Amino acid sequence: MARVAVVTGGTRGIGRAICETLMGDGFTVIASYAGNDDAARAFTDETGIATYKFDVGDFDATQQACAKIAEEVGPIDVVVNNAGITRDGTLLRMSYEEWDDVMRTNLGGCFNMAKAAFEGMKDRKWGRIINIGSINGQAGQYGQVNYAAAKSGIHGFTKALAQEGARYGITVNAIAPGYIDTDMVAAVPENVLEKIVAKIPVGRLGQASEIARGVSFLAAEEGAFVTGSTLSINGGQHMY
Ligand code: NDP
Repeated sequence: MARVAVVTGGTRGIGRAICETLMGDGFTVIASYAGNDDAARAFTDETGIATYKFDVGDFDATQQACAKIAEEVGPIDVVVNNAGITRDGTLLRMSYEEWDDVMRTNLGGCFNMAKAAFEGMKDRKWGRIINIGSINGQAGQYGQVNYAAAKSGIHGFTKALAQEGARYGITVNAIAPGYIDTDMVAAVPENVLEKIVAKIPVGRLGQASEIARGVSFLAAEEGAFVTGSTLSINGGQHMY
């Protein structure tokens, strides 16, 4: 039977490309999303991939949704913690809610999903947890103390959980994308984006499919010896 992969925030952007690639690899793929029903419907129509709507930042909702997925589709073998948001602003302008929303979603979501899936992976002695970090978690970014802290936290979370999973055949890795051409980056003002692209040695934004290829590598059977690592896919913008 095909292994089951759950991709959070799988209906748009990078998550969508990850879903399509993992489906091509032979996984049974489930995409989660937060609230954009139209995008989710279009995604399912175009890909045939089922969606589940829940807030990954909500612990109880995530446990319930993952239990439902396990019951309706099968035990979760692969978790891709991709759901993420930005609430940018300098520290002096950032509200506590903007800090908290980003921490809950981007970092809390990884904990909530791992809690839901790890025990079953341990029992079955096989699992893959792949966390989408960010170049801005590695290097920091003006106006993003919330986002950089959450993404940096993902890299620590990855290394710690990798040590817990190793003896059970569970690998835990992170991917740190650079600037990728998605809705999230479309929200960056054009003059700022031009300056960002000028700093990318390969001279362009990345494509979502280029991140998905990294996920595919880590999710594969042959990925079993890679754990606790961070794969930077950023066009050479930050060499870490
Ligand atoms: P998008 O904004 O294009 O898509 C975000 C996805 O996450 C949507 O499916 C959205 O659902 C879902 N989502 C948002 N909040 C929640 C939540 N609370 N619970 C469940 N799902 C949620 O993002 P990208 O594809 O650009 O980014 C994907 C990941 O990659 C993020 O973690 C981001 O931080 C990271 N990243 C992106 C970079 C880039 O350049 N784009 C660079 C580095 C990292 P809905 O449609 O319902 O809103």
